[in-house]
Amino acid sequence: MIIYIAAVAWEAGKPLVIEEVEVAPPQAGEVRLKILFTSLCHTDVYFWDSKILSDLLISHNLVRIVESVGEGVRDMKAGDKVLPVFTGECGECGHCRSEEGSNLCELLRINTERGVMLSDGKTRFSKNGKPIYHFLGTSTFAEYTVLHAGCVVKINPSAPLHTVCILSCGFCTGFGAAVNVAKPKPGSTVAVFGLGAVGLAVSLLPKKFGITDFLNPKDYDKPIQEVICEMTNGGVDRAIECTGNVQASIQAFESVHDGWGVAVLVGVPSKDAEFKTHPLKFLQERTLKGTFFGNFKPRSHLPSVVEKYINKELEVDKFITHTIPFSEINKAFEYMLTGKSIRCVMSMQE
Ligand code: NAD
Ligand code: ZN
Ligand code: ZN
Repeated sequence: MIIYIAAVAWEAGKPLVIEEVEVAPPQAGEVRLKILFTSLCHTDVYFWDSKILSDLLISHNLVRIVESVGEGVRDMKAGDKVLPVFTGECGECGHCRSEEGSNLCELLRINTERGVMLSDGKTRFSKNGKPIYHFLGTSTFAEYTVLHAGCVVKINPSAPLHTVCILSCGFCTGFGAAVNVAKPKPGSTVAVFGLGAVGLAVSLLPKKFGITDFLNPKDYDKPIQEVICEMTNGGVDRAIECTGNVQASIQAFESVHDGWGVAVLVGVPSKDAEFKTHPLKFLQERTLKGTFFGNFKPRSHLPSVVEKYINKELEVDKFITHTIPFSEINKAFEYMLTGKSIRCVMSMQE
């Protein structure tokens, strides 16, 4: 066991506490990583505030250096620069082998409840013998963490490490929703609902062709889908919803053109949300799709997204509105809860 510093969510909705925790060595098929930079995402805040989880080491956006690898891990070694991802790729299951574009790996797909490692059902974090649970298979608010090797992506070490950490969630989700799922053609009309980190990443693509209008639904006395359909001669070619509000999901679907329009849902709605629309909207040849992590298979596809960033084809830096030391982690929550930040990056090297 090695003792390291971590920020632990002992109680839901309460400030995180900086603690010394024990981090066990990696077991078979696992890697232990030293974290350099980490970041906070709305999904962390959602679960931190959800009143159902406690004794948790949260967060899932970061960049790390491999410290040690467990038995059977052959494609990574100590010193490699890596990105961890909340949804993994085992490389062997039906989803990983599928050519349909699925990234929902049977073994390592996003799991908000597991909290333990697959090999032995135990946690690798503890404090005085009390287990501290993992979150989304990543748990990055700590100096060191242990992951399944299938959730770790080796990247080009020349990538700027303080910014590349945000690729591992919101950025790739939004970018992939556009390029892998919605697939607008040059000249297509695209409506993006919600301009947080995910929505802004979606907009990178249409921006190349020129974002023309910003609409605030509150400025209109009729449903926003009607406004959009009137502006675009019957509806947009693609709509991408990045809010997590189910009403916005319905509006996005009803904003697309009949005959060919495609709406893509990205936002995670509340547990009780229901999507209601008239079935005729489907009969009139509109398509509704959803995506996790922009349909990127993390280990196969992320290295090339990082290359695009290195080659200055993607503007990632603008998403980082704040950089703070890890010890001030609760400030990152405040910035997100008050809408001040898009992404706040925390440095472990104070
Ligand atoms: P965010 O809070 O930074 O951004 C959401 C934006 O939507 C905010 O700017 C908000 O003002 C706006 N908004 C809210 N309701 C709206 C409405 N009715 N109409 C128009 N705009 C509205 O969040 P984010 O980090 O960008 O994440 C967006 C959503 O995507 C969240 O629900 C998050 O949980 C989800 N998410 C999904 C995946 C996935 O794999 N599917 C991955 C990451 C995040
Ligand atoms: Zn798999
Ligand atoms: Zn996230």
